[in-house]
Amino acid sequence: RVAYEIHSELGRVNAGGKIPLGLKKKSLRIVVTGGAGFVGSHLVDRLMERGDSVIVVDNFFTGRKENVMHHLGNPRFELIRHDVVEPILLEVDQIYHLACPASPVHYKFNPVKTIKTNVVGTMNMLGLAKRIGARFLLTSTSEVYGDPLQHPQVETYWGNVNPIGVRSCYDEGKRTAETLTMDYHRGLGIEVRIARIFNTYGPRMCIDDGRVVSNFVAQALRKEPLTVYGDGKQTRSFQYVSDLVEGLMRLMEGEHVGPFNLGNPGEFTMLELAQVVQETIDSNAKIEFRPNTEDDPHKRKPDISKAKELLGWEPVVSLRDGLPRMVSDFRQRIFGDEKGSGA
Ligand code: NAD
Ligand code: UDP
Repeated sequence: RVAYEIHSELGRVNAGGKIPLGLKKKSLRIVVTGGAGFVGSHLVDRLMERGDSVIVVDNFFTGRKENVMHHLGNPRFELIRHDVVEPILLEVDQIYHLACPASPVHYKFNPVKTIKTNVVGTMNMLGLAKRIGARFLLTSTSEVYGDPLQHPQVETYWGNVNPIGVRSCYDEGKRTAETLTMDYHRGLGIEVRIARIFNTYGPRMCIDDGRVVSNFVAQALRKEPLTVYGDGKQTRSFQYVSDLVEGLMRLMEGEHVGPFNLGNPGEFTMLELAQVVQETIDSNAKIEFRPNTEDDPHKRKPDISKAKELLGWEPVVSLRDGLPRMVSDFRQRIFGDEKGSGA
């Protein structure tokens, strides 16, 4: 649904019936749940830059006011402390639904709360979309593929997920969120979009979230050993946050429901990642092996052909280019010795 406003008398009549002269795209009212988190706050920056009015709904479980405080005082920006497990009524055109802890350490902290957030929270936001006729975008995850038996992962792959494991609150939670999203779409005609996001890194990640990129970067900066879990041969594909935000916005504005894989196909073992971190921060950083966590996926790499073809999207920032941008943000937050807002 594209909103237009007439801002000139000249634009009112256009006998050709083509795009009316003098019509410009109206700025939208958008809610971003989880907008004080890592990805959400970068998305909010882009939406604010575009001229939209943005409401952030966040319970600050893993998000921080610091991530969005540069918008406080802007009349187009609102920050609401709210838990999506409770219903909320707002008037908006679009809903970007990101609220959910994303790091394994955080989502395993209170698994029942994680599943409530994914199921009840998503149902509440879909209910809101239905009531006000807004377009709804779900940020799902590559975790819906579980420990994949197909490589790279294509959207048509149904996954290999343990329904009763320690990661299930997150991956089964997101799978249910996808189901709910499709059922609201098919059954109730809600306009929806589904993104399956692969490992993303960048400025404003929680320093202590336990994810591999944040751990390695913080460890190298603090002159601590890089903790490689298991044999370090498991793989992940790391996407820089600005590429993800571009993909999310294209998905929301486009015509296709998805699901779409949004990730960088560059695949690294954890040992290779440790090497890139050593090259970027400290070539003397030591590696320390630790036991791996339960149900850890062995391989992960997105097939992004669908997003390339239908959204005209592909990542442009490589790991070697993106990592230094994150390092300067982490250095500033850990030591406070570098200027920068994390933007
Ligand atoms: P994040 O933890 O930084 O952000 C999540 C935000 O949601 C935080 O601000 C948190 O306070 C908020 N939140 C959590 N539970 C809430 C609740 N019940 N009510 C209201 N707010 C709540 O994580 P992120 O990396 O920015 O991830 C954002 C979204 O993208 C998540 O849905 C995540 O599952 C998805 N995702 C992220 C990645 C990644 O690598 N970053 C990968 C796959 C999917
Ligand atoms: N990992 C690691 N060292 C760490 C943290 C994580 O080797 O300090 C590994 C972890 O076992 C997994 C991979 O890095 O194989 C990615 O973990 P992360 O928690 O970042 O994200 P996931 O993709 O598992 O959600």
